[in-house]
Amino acid sequence: MRIVIIGGGVTGLSAAYELVKAGRRPVLIEAHSHLGGVIQTETVEGCVLEGGPDSFLSAKPAANELIREVGLDDQLIGSNDASRVTYLVRGGRLIPLPDGLMMMVPTRIMPVALSPLLSWGTKIRMGLEYFRKPPAGPMPDRTVAEFIEDHYGRETVDYLAEPLLSGVYGGSVDRLSVGSVLTRFVELEKKYGSLTRGVLEARKRAPKGQGSAPLFQTLKGGLAQLTGELERRVRPHCDVITGTAEQVERTGSTYRVRVGGDAVDAAGVIMACPAWQAGVLLRPVHAGLADLLEGIEYSSSVTLALGYRREQCGPVPPGFGFLVPSKERKTLVACTFVGAKFPYRVPDSHLVLRCFLGGAGHEAVLDRSDDEIVGAVRRELRELLGWDADPAFLRIRRWRRSMAQYTVGHAARIESLRGILRELPELQLAGNAYEGIGVPDCVRTGRQAARALITE
Ligand SMILES: Cc1cc2nc3c(=O)[nH]c(=O)nc-3n(C[C@H](O)[C@H](O)[C@H](O)COP(=O)(O)OP(=O)(O)OC[C@H]3O[C@@H](n4cnc5c(N)ncnc54)[C@H](O)[C@@H]3O)c2cc1C
Repeated sequence: MRIVIIGGGVTGLSAAYELVKAGRRPVLIEAHSHLGGVIQTETVEGCVLEGGPDSFLSAKPAANELIREVGLDDQLIGSNDASRVTYLVRGGRLIPLPDGLMMMVPTRIMPVALSPLLSWGTKIRMGLEYFRKPPAGPMPDRTVAEFIEDHYGRETVDYLAEPLLSGVYGGSVDRLSVGSVLTRFVELEKKYGSLTRGVLEARKRAPKGQGSAPLFQTLKGGLAQLTGELERRVRPHCDVITGTAEQVERTGSTYRVRVGGDAVDAAGVIMACPAWQAGVLLRPVHAGLADLLEGIEYSSSVTLALGYRREQCGPVPPGFGFLVPSKERKTLVACTFVGAKFPYRVPDSHLVLRCFLGGAGHEAVLDRSDDEIVGAVRRELRELLGWDADPAFLRIRRWRRSMAQYTVGHAARIESLRGILRELPELQLAGNAYEGIGVPDCVRTGRQAARALITE
């Protein structure tokens, strides 16, 4: 009997690739006519536009490894870290993030002391944090806001933690779990008390040569090069069903997947769709599992790429782009200067601004018309950059319930989930909802799920 994969994004494709490599012929069910999920690349006037993910963290090796394995290593590029300045909006101005910040942890005194981003009260508090003692006993899971406020004060939450995490998770610091989202900082707190001291100590111990890799990596022609190559390799050895899986049922140790009025019998099933969808599908199999899956929150977002001909637009400051803290936010959450972050992606003749909107608590933007969204973004860009111009092209994408939110208690929920799954070894969950939100986590969990079923 076959293995069925539900969901044809990078997670499902990675699982299919692993199964095909092992000589299996899986069935891949995907609701849309194209594979790749939220990874959607388009090239317009020589500019590479990413509708969804645009890059991945190089610190997590799984995506890099797969890219090399499928022969795309010559396409791999790193972020242009020499110009890695990120700005934050404060008082309507773009202020560079001071050097020496590791997320919101200050590791150098002078750049932070001289930065106009934070008040003197916060800077002094940041300095005093160095002397903090480890907690007396185990700490419960807390929100990111509670944790950072406790260490560095409310202003650090508002002007560092909140915009940084909105940009990555589209999430709210008042709901995200510090244990799941900033796991490393929780470990440092436990060991050192002070995050600043912990980060400095960890750096001293890090093997020499670390830190030279670029922060982000991607593919010259866009991340769809990876999903496209995976699809090219698996298509001939895989049955792709274009349709929405409606239900999964279990009889003994085998499964039946209902799709488009048909039923596919399976020896194993990999759920590579969003957790809330997996919950709906798996309710007949295990109601407790379905409750846990449906309990994982998701946020919705919009990406808007604005492409300009250079001669028609004004300058942008040197750097990767900017983040807008919630306190200053109207519509824009973040904006990447694409050609500065990844020079290969935009010819000198053009400028591309990739804007990110929505996220937890700001989802109403998804219901606004394209014209309204573009108008609001252009007004805000004019205020921040000092110019406005008619874009030569633009692309807008709405991503509903696409980004999993690791809210307080997430680790405990995943533990319960794993407990139930131990009793259902032919059922595997993979994707960004469980133990890592990024593309590398999707690749890793997709491949692991396939390997687990091959072993079974
Ligand atoms: C806008 C956005 C930007 C992101 N940017 C980055 C980034 O820059 N870097 C990074 O590392 N991560 C990023 N992420 C996070 C993460 O890496 C991506 O979400 C990742 O590509 C998810 O892949 P996936 O295959 O798990 O899910 P998806 O790409 O969502 O694919 C799931 C697929 O399942 C299908 N499906 C759902 N239900 C069913 C059903 N019942 N039957 C059949 N098919 C179904 C869907 O149609 C979809 O194609 C971003 C996420 C979003 C939403």
